[in-house]
This record gives sequence, C-alpha cells and structure tokens, in this order.
Amino acid sequence: MEDCIFCKIRKGEIPSQKVYEDDAMMIIKDIDPKAKNHFLCIPKNHFKLLSEMTEEDAAQLARCFKTIPALEKELGLEGGYRLIVNQGDNAGQSVFHLHIHILSGQKMGWTPA
Ligand code: AMP
Ligand code: ZN
Repeated sequence: MEDCIFCKIRKGEIPSQKVYEDDAMMIIKDIDPKAKNHFLCIPKNHFKLLSEMTEEDAAQLARCFKTIPALEKELGLEGGYRLIVNQGDNAGQSVFHLHIHILSGQKMGWTPA
C-alpha cells in the first residue's frame, strides 16, 4: 500500500490531473491515454481485486458506478463509453489498486489482445 501509485496520488504525494473527487473516489486523467478520452475512476480504499473486496470497498465501488454516468458532460461520455476493470495478470493489470478505466470520444473496436 505504501508503494501504491494511486494511494500516493490520493495523498497528494504524486501530481495528477484530477477531474472529480469526493469521499469515496477520485477521477483522474490517465497518464498514457488509450482512447481520445481516458479517465480512471479510483475508489479511495486500497484493494487489488474484486475478489478481495470488503463490504465497505464494494459500497465505494457502487458509488463509482453511480457517479460516472452522472458526470457525462465533464467526462465527455455523450456519444457512449466503455468501462474496463482489469483483474490480474491475463488482463495486464499494472497498478494493484482497483480502478475503472473510462474510455470515450471515439468508436472502439473489440479485440482482447
Ligand atoms: P491497469 O493496467 O489496468 O492496472 O491500468 C493502470 C493505468 O494507470 C494505466 O492505463 C496507466 O497509464 C495509468 N497510470 C499509471 N500511472 C499513472 C499516473 N501517475 N497518473 C495517471 N495514470 C497513471
Ligand atoms: Zn492504493
């Protein structure tokens, strides 16, 4: 947890482009965008996998899914969007603090590789 990039961003120890924050989450611009608009919605609690969630973690995650569509304009989601939650090795998870990728602003294909 001490070495977690997203926990450091939450504590203000690493700069980020924050577009939204409340007691349950922060939404930042991804540093290496994979679509025209690419944000990350990060619950404030540190946990890696859906399978590891406590009830409180699950409540924060539910808040994330409720808040993202409410920020349609701010996040540029009007034309449709994709949410991705990478879990573990096969998915290529590289930051071990659960986060939701929010991709939008363009048509997207469907290729897992
Ligand atoms: P994942 O591969 O699903 O774990 O996604 C991690 C994401 O975090 C990647 O899309 C990275 O580009 C992004 N990322 C890593 N470091 C930072 C950072 N300091 N600020 C914003 N995004 C970051
Ligand atoms: Zn963390």
